[in-house]
Amino acid sequence: KVLRVAIMGLGSYGTRVAEAMKDCKRAKLVGVISGTPSKIEAWKQKYGIPAKNCYNYENYHQIKDNPDIDAVYVITPNSLHKPHSIGVAKAGKHVICEKPMALNAEEGREMIAACKAAGVHLMVGYRMHFEAKTLEVVKKQRAGEFGKTLFFQGLSGFMIGDPTQWRLNRELAGGGSMMDIGVYSINGARYMLGEEPIWVTAQEVKTDPVKFKQGVDETITFQMGFPSGAVASCLSTYSMNNLDKFFLNGTKGFAEMQPSTGYGPIQARTNQGPIEAQHITHQTTQMEEMAAIILDGKKPLIPVDGEEGLKDLVIVDAIYEAVRTGARISLI
Ligand code: NAD
Repeated sequence: KVLRVAIMGLGSYGTRVAEAMKDCKRAKLVGVISGTPSKIEAWKQKYGIPAKNCYNYENYHQIKDNPDIDAVYVITPNSLHKPHSIGVAKAGKHVICEKPMALNAEEGREMIAACKAAGVHLMVGYRMHFEAKTLEVVKKQRAGEFGKTLFFQGLSGFMIGDPTQWRLNRELAGGGSMMDIGVYSINGARYMLGEEPIWVTAQEVKTDPVKFKQGVDETITFQMGFPSGAVASCLSTYSMNNLDKFFLNGTKGFAEMQPSTGYGPIQARTNQGPIEAQHITHQTTQMEEMAAIILDGKKPLIPVDGEEGLKDLVIVDAIYEAVRTGARISLI
């Protein structure tokens, strides 16, 4: 059986996912949802999508009457993830939603409830959760090969260009670098350490208040404390390039990944030496594995469900609260 997927939002990442799905055996791109008729025409040609599987944002609810689509991959700007995902769930289709799952934890909970009520899966596009070298490091950490892991460093950033893009618009992005790239360090800290934080502190730095308006963070440093006593120290920024590094240290060893979350190939080494694994386009593996989760009930080592997305959103909320108040925010 094959998972038949429609992509909603035919932008740059939607295109990347469509290209990656060409190599999938168990997931197939069969439909599109777009507000731009010319894009629909181009995708019909390029990916052999039948006209009956093409929708726009006004009529996509009719997808509920289409037995040839199983799941919709929501790849629209952040603030649309909640309404679009809930719309898809109400149409009875499984939801794959891009990160960040929503703008805040409250929205995330609404999405989880809607998908549960509709009896459909909700998954977040956490492609790193299926990446071979990442999984190898995580397995070593879980097996105790680094000893007691007490420190994680996550550096996530790039220099953002065009000041008019939606990523710099608070209404559509829900924030700034934290919503876009900082979430990789939040998520990475959790899967690399294998535990959930109990407190957060955070500090914001803004060098360009014209480009990064009120509510759009340019750079945030943040720290998280974990039940074991481990701490994470992280940076999220839209003002520096080549920031894509994870470092995990334990009483017996370490793991270093750089690049750690880019499109790859990922580079990883531990105190025992380099980690070797074939690079496969992340989105290809992700869609194959998501098909297996939906079709076979497969359980991934690192979850990608709505609850997993919500855990990151709770931390995002706490980071913004810590920035606002200067306080250490408890998560328990
Ligand atoms: P993009 O601007 O290239 O594409 C967004 C698409 O949404 C466009 O086709 C646009 O037309 C459409 N859209 C629909 N309604 C819109 C509206 N009201 N306003 C603006 N655009 C609207 O952006 P992108 O880089 O493709 O990012 C889309 C999502 O994918 C974001 O949530 C982003 O965080 C996520 N993303 C994830 C990864 C990853 O590696 N997992 C990488 C890039 C982007």
